[in-house]
Amino acid sequence: MNLHPRLPRRHLITAVLGLSAALFGPAVHAQATPAAPVQAVASFSVLADMVRQVGGERVAVQALIGPGADAHVFQPAPSHARMVGQAHIVFANGLGFEGWLQRLLETAGYKGKPVLLSQGIEPLRAARRERGHDHDHGHAHGDADPHAWQSVPNAIAYVANIAKGLCAVDAAGCPVYRQNAATYTAELRALDAEIRAAWAGVPAAQRKIITSHAAYGYYAQAYGVQFLAAQGVSTDSEPSARGVAQLVRQIRKENIQALFVENIANPRLVEQIGRETGIRPAGQLLSDSLTPPNGRAPSYVAMMRANTQAMIGAIQGR
Ligand code: ZN
Repeated sequence: MNLHPRLPRRHLITAVLGLSAALFGPAVHAQATPAAPVQAVASFSVLADMVRQVGGERVAVQALIGPGADAHVFQPAPSHARMVGQAHIVFANGLGFEGWLQRLLETAGYKGKPVLLSQGIEPLRAARRERGHDHDHGHAHGDADPHAWQSVPNAIAYVANIAKGLCAVDAAGCPVYRQNAATYTAELRALDAEIRAAWAGVPAAQRKIITSHAAYGYYAQAYGVQFLAAQGVSTDSEPSARGVAQLVRQIRKENIQALFVENIANPRLVEQIGRETGIRPAGQLLSDSLTPPNGRAPSYVAMMRANTQAMIGAIQGR
């Protein structure tokens, strides 16, 4: 195994113990599954799930930002630096989504480069949400919309980048990663076809959704759905009263019925829009975070499926 040279000593000992257990039969400390040889850190829960799919039992994955937490306003704590300090590989989205990452890597003394999963995809420009304003507010993400995982074809590109990254730190596991990536990619292709088939039954003119923050630009592009968001691509700024008033007018004029809150964003604004338009929010979409394991969307595949069903259900009045 060609592990990263930064392999912590503690980890070598674990590997040796694991080997002796394998050679000499069940030992006192034998575990149900052998300790994973690769320690990986992913910036947020969606990426962590994808890394688990590709890494399988060879990779132990921790997410810096767990289920239900908001990456846009994340502030790393010392515990996160410790996590990164013990990692062989760090996966991040890129496109400015993790503005705090470089500093965290430095604090943690992490010498490698993070694997940016959005590498190779075609970035979309961030939607300008502050209606009535046309200047840039200087957010760290610049002009790119970071939410690229919201299109399944992009997720397939993420998976290829994950396999490449894992092969670079664990050459012995590479055939396993390639096989897992191929299996997962087949599942994602089927998911993509399923989402397209679901939307095929909805007339294009009705495919309009209102959400909290502009997280669905890539979904919109991939599946031909129009999103109107109360907030911008980040959750860290408040829209202007004028922006909200314009959105309310547009909802009335176009008779849009599908209004959603999100699992990470403050629901207050969407609830206000609901009061002003008389539309009851249809539920919650998942944007930048999965649910905990016992929730309705603990995986990327489940998230995309749950969002699609919720959106179409709201449009069709179910
Ligand atoms: Zn977001």
